[in-house]
Amino acid sequence: MENKNENSLLKTGNFIHSYINEDLKADLNKLHTRFPPEPNGYLHIGHAKSICLNFGLAETYNGKCNLRFDDTNPAKEDTEFVESIKNDIKWLGFDWEDRLYFASSYFDKMYEYALMLIKKGKAYVCDLSAEEIRQSRGTLNTAGTESPYRNRSIEENLDLFERMKNGEFADGEKTLRAKIDMASPNINMRDPVLYRISHQSHHATFDKWCIYPMYDYAHPVEDAIEGITHSICTMEFEDHRPLYNWVIDEIGFDLKPRQIEFAKLNLSNTIMGKRFLRSLVEENKVDGWDDPRLITLSGIRRRGYTPESIRAFCEMVGVSKANSIVDLAQLEYCIREDLKPKVPVVMAVLDPIKLVITNYPEDKVEMLEIENHPENEEMGKRLVPFTRELYIERSDFMEEPVKKFFRLAPGKEVRLKGAYFVQCTDFIKNEKGEITEIHCTYDPETKCGSGFSKRKVKGTIHWVSKAHAVNVKAMLYNNLTMEDKNSEKGYSFNPNSLEIMDKCMVEPSIKDAEPFDRFQFIRNGYFCVDYKHTTKERLVFNRIVSLKSSFKENPINSTGK
Ligand code: ATP
Ligand code: MG
Repeated sequence: MENKNENSLLKTGNFIHSYINEDLKADLNKLHTRFPPEPNGYLHIGHAKSICLNFGLAETYNGKCNLRFDDTNPAKEDTEFVESIKNDIKWLGFDWEDRLYFASSYFDKMYEYALMLIKKGKAYVCDLSAEEIRQSRGTLNTAGTESPYRNRSIEENLDLFERMKNGEFADGEKTLRAKIDMASPNINMRDPVLYRISHQSHHATFDKWCIYPMYDYAHPVEDAIEGITHSICTMEFEDHRPLYNWVIDEIGFDLKPRQIEFAKLNLSNTIMGKRFLRSLVEENKVDGWDDPRLITLSGIRRRGYTPESIRAFCEMVGVSKANSIVDLAQLEYCIREDLKPKVPVVMAVLDPIKLVITNYPEDKVEMLEIENHPENEEMGKRLVPFTRELYIERSDFMEEPVKKFFRLAPGKEVRLKGAYFVQCTDFIKNEKGEITEIHCTYDPETKCGSGFSKRKVKGTIHWVSKAHAVNVKAMLYNNLTMEDKNSEKGYSFNPNSLEIMDKCMVEPSIKDAEPFDRFQFIRNGYFCVDYKHTTKERLVFNRIVSLKSSFKENPINSTGK
């Protein structure tokens, strides 16, 4: 038995691997999993965990993984979501090959299996309303009460179920229920509803059906039809597993898929719940489902995250049965680690202030050779123009420097990255008292790389030649939500989650950058060219992540429910 991938998942192993090893023994390549999204929203980082797990296991064991749209719910589904989901999975680097399925294409089979259950005396048509069913279900400590319709004859059930299908009844008037045990200690086994009536058009089957299977009935049938060996789902389905197995056993499928549950991914300081995300999109508080602040896969892709970093993150957080909240800083760590060795380091001034080197010739342009990456010589060097008038970061100057401020201040000297030492001689203020210009002199003897070492300076700052600077728009992102004691959820949308740096000035080497090109802006973080708002005239950059963790403890429940 040879495995396609020496995946680290296999080396470390987890409880899912043990189950699979125990079930399939020498036939590990028979492993067949599926990723079953409901096409009712965009995928988020939590789904990525499920995708990496299901497709990852198939890769590890040389098995197969299906993509199956679980479109059994006519109300909320849309083909826009189907396309975005396919796109996200491909982007993550996984391939369902020719195994793209839709649960709705099994509606005929599901109906036939339901008839079979009725004929076996294992299902009946019930006239109780949803509320009556709920009330008669009992509690954790008391048994439920049997429906007065429970003992209808098989003939009557077949007749009524057919008439349900034919549209003779209104929504909610009747249901098809499994006949299991109203006294079961597991409430899910107390005659659960298998089919409900809904006179709503479905995105794939249109008006063919007015009865729709419930998730607990549909899901095991879908898995069994596709020959899934291991049906991996999240913990909230643990109590439904007996019902999953009941459906498989009573219908009599030969291959019995095994349901295995794992804990959902929760992330601190962000919200994954589709409902909250949808409300932000619909109320135009964010720039669509791919707003870079959202933890949707399309959002973090637009922001500049790489598929490799997401896969590394999913691997790092691992799988377990215990619920926990993963620190957002861990995701940020993964993208930094991925980008650090790969992307060029350039100079960009986010909040510029003019610096004039009064003893530097007015028309002179020196092309300084600067390395593209401090730790990777193979990435080569580039030429950066140096002139008398530069931009530096406003925050790199202090009129009255505080203790341990080693950057520019009156009389102080700093190193300009890759260039010369400059000493501040003067500064100019406007009528409002704001500093508009800083004057310096440079020491020609201190040229970078000239071997000069007469004196030392503590601070090095970045700069851009004013005449050559490219003005770009830089979008900086903060936490999507903030604590809000007045909101019942305990949080609300953070109106300061986006900071636009309109005057950002970047060295000319980036002027031909294309959407999704990534750079490290020295001292300011990793940035990615925004594909949506960049035009021929102007580049827009999203800050992917700052260089250091900006994480602040803020206990927000990330599911948003
Ligand atoms: P949400 O509740 O956030 O709207 P969902 O569970 O309704 O998500 P589905 O489309 O049903 O969304 O999910 C597809 C698959 O992804 C399911 O198998 C589900 O268990 C899994 N999944 C969803 N959210 C997470 C998460 N946070 N962590 C891990 N897996 C998840
Ligand atoms: Mg779901």
